[in-house]
Amino acid sequence: MTSGTTSAIPDLTLNDGTTIPQLGFGVFQVPPAETEKVTLDAFEAGYRHIDTAQMYGNEKGVGAALASSGLARDEVYLTTKLNNAFHRPDDARRTFEQSLADLGTDHVDLFLIHWPLPTRYDGDFVSTWNTLIEFAADGRARSIGVSNFTPEHLARLAAETSVVPAVNQIEVHPYFGNEATRAAGAAAGILTEAWSPIAQGAVLDDPTVVAIAERVGRTPSQVVLRWHVQRGDIVFPKTVTPARMRENLALFDFELGADDVAAITALDRGEKGRRGPDPETFDWIPA
Ligand code: NDP
Repeated sequence: MTSGTTSAIPDLTLNDGTTIPQLGFGVFQVPPAETEKVTLDAFEAGYRHIDTAQMYGNEKGVGAALASSGLARDEVYLTTKLNNAFHRPDDARRTFEQSLADLGTDHVDLFLIHWPLPTRYDGDFVSTWNTLIEFAADGRARSIGVSNFTPEHLARLAAETSVVPAVNQIEVHPYFGNEATRAAGAAAGILTEAWSPIAQGAVLDDPTVVAIAERVGRTPSQVVLRWHVQRGDIVFPKTVTPARMRENLALFDFELGADDVAAITALDRGEKGRRGPDPETFDWIPA
């Protein structure tokens, strides 16, 4: 296993004092049977931060890659997330243990509530959050956070619990800046993790992005990912293609000017730019 270019990836400090590599690798929609190979390819390219979830069905593949990579556990930053079906405290406890077993580890670096599900469980994501606080207290989750929480959901956790989430993982890309939620996080010391950072490819042929890419001599994907990095968000683009893994990692030897950052930010389409579900109404629970 080569060390890749990880030394170039900055670490960001979370509000609990731990650090997280700003760039990682996401495995949403990587088929379970291919996940070990894809994750090993990502390690080979130099990624040392993997973002998975119970609902992706591929934690075992990530665990197998970790085991066969030859990397020490503390060389890899591992995030997973709670299945929407398991918000009740006893279910969360049981399934968290299962995640650790499937990942082949005694701890994760970050564990998230995947969706707030305000129309499920009597709207009670607070009990779920208090259960994650247990996992942090006993060290099995070094950090805990949330995903797809709105400013109102964050405010409720602040009012009713004792621990501020380390991160909020939300949809952010040039067509959906999600600025109010980013700002609410920043005001509370919560780092934003930007999911679907290249809008699953949809922003890569945008004329503004393409023009900047041509001028700075980088690819559209690199320009968009660099925009996220300069805004201070954490990103973990997904690709099953090794050449794209390397491309998406090569972000730390160039910089966008303030005008280019502003031009990409101006592509925001507000709610119309959202590609994923609205967290206020999303209520899907896997069978
Ligand atoms: P991304 O924005 O990362 O886009 C992935 C798509 O872009 C794939 O089709 C990939 O193709 C393609 N792609 C990647 N790199 C390039 C490139 N350099 N040039 C051209 N095409 C490229 O989408 P995701 O939705 O996967 O988001 C990333 C991660 O965010 C997920 O894997 C997951 O970890 C997280 N996430 C979290 C959610 C949440 O609710 N918390 C929701 C959605 C995502 P190919 O693979 O074929 O190469």
